[in-house]
Amino acid sequence: MPVNLKALQKVYCRLFFDLSDCLLCGQPGRALCAPCTALISALPANPCRCGLPQITPVTTVDSPDPPLCGRCIRRPPPFSAARSAVLYGFPVDRLITRYKSRGDLTAERACQQLLQRQVLPWPDADALCPLPAHWRRRWLRGFDQSARLTARLAKQWQRPLLPALQRQRPTPHQQGLRASQRRHNLRRAFRCVQPVTGLHLVLVDDVMTTGSSARAAARCLLDAGARRVSVWTLARTPAGR
Ligand SMILES: [Zn+2]
Ligand SMILES: [Zn+2]
Repeated sequence: MPVNLKALQKVYCRLFFDLSDCLLCGQPGRALCAPCTALISALPANPCRCGLPQITPVTTVDSPDPPLCGRCIRRPPPFSAARSAVLYGFPVDRLITRYKSRGDLTAERACQQLLQRQVLPWPDADALCPLPAHWRRRWLRGFDQSARLTARLAKQWQRPLLPALQRQRPTPHQQGLRASQRRHNLRRAFRCVQPVTGLHLVLVDDVMTTGSSARAAARCLLDAGARRVSVWTLARTPAGR
C-alpha cells in the first residue's frame, strides 16, 4: 500500500510542533486563535469573596479580605476568596463542553492557552487541591479534568499538588437543580484523606457555577484543620445562573 509521506509528515509535524487549527473558527495556527481569544470575557480584578463582581463596590482600607456582596452577606462562603481566569460564556462554554464530553485534547490545549498568563493570586498558598469528581463519573468520562488542570497549575505556580479530597458518593447531575437542592445533595459528599492541618489550600476546578461544591469541599478541608481555603476555577458563570 503506498504511503502518503506528505500527509504523514504533516500529521507528525502538527503533533511535534503542537500545531492545530483554531477550534472555534478553523484558522490554522493555534488551538485558540488571537481574535477568538479576544472574544473571551475576563473577570473584574477585585471581586467579592465568592469571585463575582461587586454590585456596589465597597472600599475597605487595611483589610486583607475582599468586601462581601449582598449574596455573601446573607450566606458567607467558608472559603476566603475565589478567582477565575475567565467568565463562562461564549466561546469558553463550547471549549469546556467539548473537552469534558469528548475528552478532546485539542480543546484541552485551548483551555491551557487560557491558563498561560494566569498568576497565583495568593502568594502564601501552600498547596493545590483538585475538587474531585466521583470515581464513577471519572471512569465514564475516562479522565478527571480538574485533576489535570490542577497538575498543570501546580507546575506553573510551583506549588505541590495535594489531592486531599475524595468524593464519598456520586452526586446526581446538578444542572437544573435549585441551589437548596444542590446543597442538600452535597452535604457530606467529600472526605479529607490527607493531613492538611495549618495549610492554606487552593481548591481547583474547571467551572464554578453556584459554588455549592466549592463550599462543601472548603468546609470539609477546614473541618480537617486547613488554615485557609481559596478557590480557583478556569471559568465562572455570571451571577444568577
Ligand atoms: Zn479562532
Ligand atoms: Zn459574594
